[in-house]
Amino acid sequence: MATYKIVLFYGFTPLAAPESVRLWQQALGERWGLTGRVVVSRHGINATLGGTVENLKQYVRTTRQHPGLEHIDVKWSDGTGADFPRLSVKVRPELVSFGVPDEVEVDERGVVGGGVPLGPDEVDALVAERDDVVFFDGRNAFEAEIGRFKGAVVPDVRTTRDFIEQIDSGTFDHLKDRPIVTYCTGGVRCEVLSALMRKRGFEEVYQVAGGIVRYAEARGADGLWEGSLYVFDERRHVEFADGVEPLGSCVVCSAPAARYENCGDASCRTLRLACAECTPAVTAGRCEACVAERPGSFVPRPTARPGVPAAV
Ligand SMILES: [Zn+2]
Ligand SMILES: [Zn+2]
Repeated sequence: MATYKIVLFYGFTPLAAPESVRLWQQALGERWGLTGRVVVSRHGINATLGGTVENLKQYVRTTRQHPGLEHIDVKWSDGTGADFPRLSVKVRPELVSFGVPDEVEVDERGVVGGGVPLGPDEVDALVAERDDVVFFDGRNAFEAEIGRFKGAVVPDVRTTRDFIEQIDSGTFDHLKDRPIVTYCTGGVRCEVLSALMRKRGFEEVYQVAGGIVRYAEARGADGLWEGSLYVFDERRHVEFADGVEPLGSCVVCSAPAARYENCGDASCRTLRLACAECTPAVTAGRCEACVAERPGSFVPRPTARPGVPAAV
């Protein structure tokens, strides 16, 4: 029986011809029957892909043959073979959409001016030595609802684009002379975020090397990570130890919950936390915003019950 895995990696390196890299990556993905998404930009490549372990190994080996991508750090996790609906390979102005493509500078060593990368031992040592360390969440705010570093500052951002506005508004100016440790899922967002923060006057900026995935895998139930990690694939969330208590709570009954479900209206992109018991009601029902904006019109997902449901 085939063993399915998921690979997660990024590489910041100048790519002079992103479109030809896209075509090459598309061909590789198709050749080895992979699904998931790849973003290519003139700053590098960012990928999350699922497939059989043999095919993914072939894909990674071939991708590493590209100049500048020889040393990409690939994170492996278990997959099911149905973790992503399709293969999507796109060229974008940025690997991560902060909305400042011309501000991000990349050379052969990666993002120019980024925060100092810290491995798990270095993160723990810094926090042990200094009492003013600030963990700064580099993800969308809803992701932090189910898991975050101990005492983290969670910016009120709906998308990565909101970071610059929040930082420029002065919301975090009081943290400018404290040691800041940025973190995100696999590290890619913080490569850029840490550089943008340093440019904006944050004096001592670090980044968790390899992101939450690397840190929490090394620490399990111990360490400074708390709760679950949100992932955008069909797993929805990942825990790094048995018996982790969910940090979030169900939108219906407030019971502990770690799993985000789509609103029952297919035209709505709201994600809501639901416990196992309330999941059928949440996935069949609508969120309050839908009901307020489109009271009579309902685009049911294939799983929805007949009729126009009330808000859940
Ligand atoms: Zn519930
Ligand atoms: Zn909705």
